[in-house]
Amino acid sequence: PKELGLADDYPKSRAASQVRSKSRARSEVSIDDFDVGDTLGEGSYSTVLQATARKTGKQYAIKVLDKTHLARKNKTFTAKIERLALIRLGRQHPGIVSLYWTFQDAHSLYFVLDLAANGEMQTLISRLGSLSTRCARYYTAQIVDIVEYMHSKGVIHRDLKPENLLLDASYRLKIADFGTAKVLNADVETERFVGTAQYVAPELVVANESSESSDLWALGCVLFQMISGRFAFSGLSEYLTLQKVKQAEYVFPGEFDEDAKDLVQKLLIRDPKQRLGAGEPMSPLDMRSLRSHPFFDSIDWTTLWTDPAPPLE
Ligand code: ATP
Repeated sequence: PKELGLADDYPKSRAASQVRSKSRARSEVSIDDFDVGDTLGEGSYSTVLQATARKTGKQYAIKVLDKTHLARKNKTFTAKIERLALIRLGRQHPGIVSLYWTFQDAHSLYFVLDLAANGEMQTLISRLGSLSTRCARYYTAQIVDIVEYMHSKGVIHRDLKPENLLLDASYRLKIADFGTAKVLNADVETERFVGTAQYVAPELVVANESSESSDLWALGCVLFQMISGRFAFSGLSEYLTLQKVKQAEYVFPGEFDEDAKDLVQKLLIRDPKQRLGAGEPMSPLDMRSLRSHPFFDSIDWTTLWTDPAPPLE
């Protein structure tokens, strides 16, 4: 259809309404407008495919959700949350996969997203064993910047982990998978207990409560893992992992950058209000103290998304 590709020319601030109007006029875009390529990944309820828009040649990732499977597992609302979160986040932030169109046919829901050509951070960590402190600093800074933006828009991700931290063609981060996000002040059902044992915050395990600060806990877990190559919290079973989470019981390996260690220690704190970047007097969303932690001394926040990524090592 004529409109395909128009969203790219829209002013950024109009991106959300563009997505909305596109999905309402469902017949305008369909899977037939794309040449579908390889499978990029599989989620619990979805398959993500590489795709090229026939008209423009632009590459996308298309997340295909099976309607019957979603309905059978009572998970239809997760697709609604993901769409709502992505619309709320708009297309302003380079670290978040943009949503271009949503449409559906008899069997599937389709989300046309930015392509993150270099896959998951998890694969990178597994391949390299662990990341250099320099790389870990760069990616942690990008997560901080993304998390601050998400929270300012009233979106709590709740499942930050290396599988959901994707890498674009320039090895910059793009965060994905908003199906378990909490979208504040939105008329949408929110799943109560979500997350992944190794990254879930104690308040979720103990009291089923989550807030912006739960993403800060996950940030601490991810930084620990990038530098050490292993989980901060891991037991022989999920139950045992969660026991350790509840106690905030973890051990640093012998070699661990001192500033990074200090930052992890200030994030992996049981009381969500005490975590660095949470519950500051002026604004709960103000993460200035996090940005000014010594671990980030060499980070230039103004060029974080334009500087080349450090060599992967
Ligand atoms: P989960 O079961 O973890 O909740 P999900 O069904 O919500 O997963 P996603 O995590 O969004 O699905 O996607 C599954 C996988 O597909 C990702 O881990 C990633 O490997 C790949 N993927 C998702 N989005 C993109 C993208 N925009 N570009 C490239 N690959 C992607």
